[in-house]
Amino acid sequence: MSVDRRDLIKLLLGTTVAGSVVGRSKEARGEKGSKESVVPQVACLVDTTLCIGCRKCEDACNRSNRLPRPKQPFSDRHVLRERRRPNAAAFTVVNSYPEGPSRTQLDRDETFVKFQCMHCLDPACVSACIVGALTKTEAGPVVYDADKCIGCRYCMIACPFEIPAYEYLDPTTPRVRKCTFCVDEQQHNAANPACAMACPVEAIVFGERSSLLELAHRRIEGNPARYRDHVYGEYEVGGTSWLYLTGRPLAEIDLLELPDDAPPRLTEAIQHGIFNYGAAPLAFYGGLAGLMWFTSRRNKKSNDND
Ligand code: SF4
Ligand code: SF4
Ligand code: SF4
Repeated sequence: MSVDRRDLIKLLLGTTVAGSVVGRSKEARGEKGSKESVVPQVACLVDTTLCIGCRKCEDACNRSNRLPRPKQPFSDRHVLRERRRPNAAAFTVVNSYPEGPSRTQLDRDETFVKFQCMHCLDPACVSACIVGALTKTEAGPVVYDADKCIGCRYCMIACPFEIPAYEYLDPTTPRVRKCTFCVDEQQHNAANPACAMACPVEAIVFGERSSLLELAHRRIEGNPARYRDHVYGEYEVGGTSWLYLTGRPLAEIDLLELPDDAPPRLTEAIQHGIFNYGAAPLAFYGGLAGLMWFTSRRNKKSNDND
């Protein structure tokens, strides 16, 4: 009987409880940034009241990550009106939000918002990844190791910001794709993200998270008419490494209203409840071993054919 990868994933999901993306213990997650971390966390502050929607950050990200060039040039600003999300070919996108629903022209009354992976302090994608392909580095970036990834896509289900994308069009070596924080592969540190470097109006500021939070609150206090009294990402889902200032209600500009609790805490609570009796993990990891065997066998077959 032939069984394909999709059937095997369904089988795995059937042996566990749906939605109980398997969180691993804090220790098992290894490198981890958290509010208690002693290593200074890097971050970016996006001031949406400064952004002019030039898309230079998108262009810089595309070049920096050697992504395929889009059909329309980055100078084409019409796409700003689409409700785009980051995808496998664009790790960051900028959307525009007019003040009123009837406005049709791009003008100064619009708010532009840049989206990318938020590099959460307690990332649900890391918690969900059962083989450690995603890790939270001490300095803040959430990094991905394609060599460890088995393509289960739990991270995509787990991410509260709907960020990880999958290279569905690549039949040979599909990867999960998302913003890398322009991480230095050797140091696992983020330094001078290409998007922040490219921004002509300093709508993106890179630095230590604690300093950026101080800066954000100073801006709010200094100009309460311009800003809402809320730094988005300071507490959402346990805090994120990308922070936002805005003058508009979150719902109007597609910044998701999320609880302060980090999703991994919830998934771990579910996991502990489910797995206390041992049978489920055995079934799950047995199935997982099967999936890994199936993947390596398929790769070997493909190599042999080549
Ligand atoms: S935004 Fe999503 S993909 Fe990025 S770190 Fe948070 S959970 Fe992971
Ligand atoms: S930090 Fe780097 S990878 Fe992330 S959006 Fe900016 S340019 Fe792209
Ligand atoms: S480069 Fe700066 S101003 Fe231009 S769209 Fe990106 S964040 Fe906005």
